[in-house]
Amino acid sequence: MDPTALNIDLHCHSTVSDGILPPAEVARRAHANGVDVWALTDHDEVGGLAEAQATAQELGMRFVTGSEISVTWSGHTVHIVGLGFDASNATLVNGLRRTRAGRAERARRMGDRLAEMGMPGAYEGAIPLAGNPELVSRTHFARYLVQAGYCPDVQTVFNKFLGDDCPGHVPMQWATLSDAVGWIRGAGGRAVIAHPGRYKYSILQFQALFDEFIQLGGEGIEVVTGSHTPDEARHYAGVARRYGFLASRGSDFHSPTESKADLGALPPLPDDLKPVWHDWF
Ligand code: AMP
Ligand code: MN
Ligand code: MN
Ligand code: MN
Repeated sequence: MDPTALNIDLHCHSTVSDGILPPAEVARRAHANGVDVWALTDHDEVGGLAEAQATAQELGMRFVTGSEISVTWSGHTVHIVGLGFDASNATLVNGLRRTRAGRAERARRMGDRLAEMGMPGAYEGAIPLAGNPELVSRTHFARYLVQAGYCPDVQTVFNKFLGDDCPGHVPMQWATLSDAVGWIRGAGGRAVIAHPGRYKYSILQFQALFDEFIQLGGEGIEVVTGSHTPDEARHYAGVARRYGFLASRGSDFHSPTESKADLGALPPLPDDLKPVWHDWF
């Protein structure tokens, strides 16, 4: 098989985290869009992988296990995508459960804060929008605030109220980088820094992040993602070359109406980069 000819999408979400479609429907949409190799990467969860894998198998689409782990590094959130691990690994499963554990209390505090800002009922409105009671995310609050008419769309909610530096954001202490990479590697998987273009670090902080990630056994970064502009994709292709990172490609699809990129619809990786899937087939 010529891997460069394959449509590979290694980042997306289902109702098990903050996606709109159940795992089986994400699988069908990926397949319909021409995806050949697909990973479901729900936030801090592996609960959708069995359904995703079963549907992918029915469709004849190659499936890779995945999860997008929330990490706190140097005071900010970084997302680490794990790929190709054993989803029944107890250390990984328990680590993800502990990572999810603070979300219920955080959701209540987010509701309180939004109420103080003149938007009452957000907690009660967001909870039923979460397909997984252990995974209430800012996205569910954002969807509720759109439904309630406070904002025209989810992006506006993040820009005004729920983005990392906005007044409605309740910061969390997520997993450590060392734990996240350790859980992924301990379960036989490969660790990838998700959408590096989204993080507000200085050049020195980025260097320290990449160095520490490599030291811990991290191997890849996302280069082509729905969360990067074309300029950011070019920049992180350069970073992959300089640091010797494997490169990944993923839409970060959440919803047909909210997401910048649909499943499988992004440009390919630059030819000279070594893809994260280089030794998979
Ligand atoms: P949480 O894990 O609850 O903090 O929510 C994080 C999720 O919110 C991300 O995975 C995105 O789906 C969404 N999100 C975060 N920041 C933004 C943003 N600036 N614009 C749009 N969506 C965002
Ligand atoms: Mn998300
Ligand atoms: Mn992310
Ligand atoms: Mn994501």
